[in-house]
Amino acid sequence: MKVKNCDIGTAKVCQCGNWLTHWERSSQNKVRMCVVKDCSGFDVLGSHVIKEDSGDKEIYIIPLCKEHAVSTEEMDIFNDVPMVSADVKKTCRANSSVMLQDGER
Ligand SMILES: [Zn+2]
Ligand SMILES: [Zn+2]
Repeated sequence: MKVKNCDIGTAKVCQCGNWLTHWERSSQNKVRMCVVKDCSGFDVLGSHVIKEDSGDKEIYIIPLCKEHAVSTEEMDIFNDVPMVSADVKKTCRANSSVMLQDGER
């Protein structure tokens, strides 16, 4: 899957604290390495990307190493990487309301 960094120009982070935690929580996954093919960079952080080869204009979070997080090149990532929406209403906010309902039962 081809993606490109998308600088949304905001330091604002959701309730997860940082975007990597946001990705881990929403995808129920954990990674220690960058998801770009042939990259073994670790020390990943959650980075905002858009899909390059689709009409999908949604902004997603994926775990990238520090170098790829600032890359302006197209990046080829593993196809099985969960793409977590940067839209918190669809992800962590949505999840937290589900958790609340579970607690009420
Ligand atoms: Zn979040
Ligand atoms: Zn990388």
